[in-house]
Amino acid sequence: CGIVAYIGIRDAYPLIIKGLKRLEYRGYDSSGVALLENSELNIYKKKGKVSDLENQLADKKLNAKIGIGHTRWATHGEPNDVNAHPHFSNDHKLAIIHNGIIENYASIKQNLIGKGHIFQSATDTEVLIHFIEDIQKETGTSLEEAVRLALLEVVGAYAIVVISVDFPDQLIAARKGSPLVIGVGENEFFFASDATPIIEYTKDVVYLDDYEVAVIRDGQLSIQNLDNTQKVPYIQKLEMEL
Ligand code: GLU
Repeated sequence: CGIVAYIGIRDAYPLIIKGLKRLEYRGYDSSGVALLENSELNIYKKKGKVSDLENQLADKKLNAKIGIGHTRWATHGEPNDVNAHPHFSNDHKLAIIHNGIIENYASIKQNLIGKGHIFQSATDTEVLIHFIEDIQKETGTSLEEAVRLALLEVVGAYAIVVISVDFPDQLIAARKGSPLVIGVGENEFFFASDATPIIEYTKDVVYLDDYEVAVIRDGQLSIQNLDNTQKVPYIQKLEMEL
């Protein structure tokens, strides 16, 4: 139900946790983060409050400049640790956070199980990241193109952010029917469900529109439509105060 992601120069974990707390008003049953730490993609997640996750991780040294975080409001699969986001791809090289519902997940899941995919959770979300992985492997295309191709097949509503251990300079996000704001800083970018997790770092934001895929790569933001047309990002100034 809430999304926060970061790529840049700061310590990602505390920033993401703080952002998730700002989104707590939206309601949720579990929370989690995926962090790229020393070339490893690690997921930490837990049923309950963001502060429960934080307490569990209190003794860990979490060193990451890129990460994604989520508060979940369960729609598919009961609220528990395993169903909490983020979710890994089959090879654990990709992770995703997702707000919304993938309505046609069951048929996609059947097909992927036939191809040998093993699912950990009961969520629709995990199916989407396995699907992206499958397309990327079958077509040999870029991660952003695999995300785009997967979303063309998806029925439902989503705001997603994808992180990959193979592309540590990248975050890929998309939306249809669930809000997503991109904060544009200097050598850093933020994603969030609304601007409250972003405002203390930058006032320059881009509101992603439905059917758009945003890619941060090499310190640059680019946006394309699901039909593969490029769009010039429209940067707005936030007026709101904290
Ligand atoms: N449908 C997803 C799930 O149940 C995402 C729910 C949400 O928006 O938090 O895991």
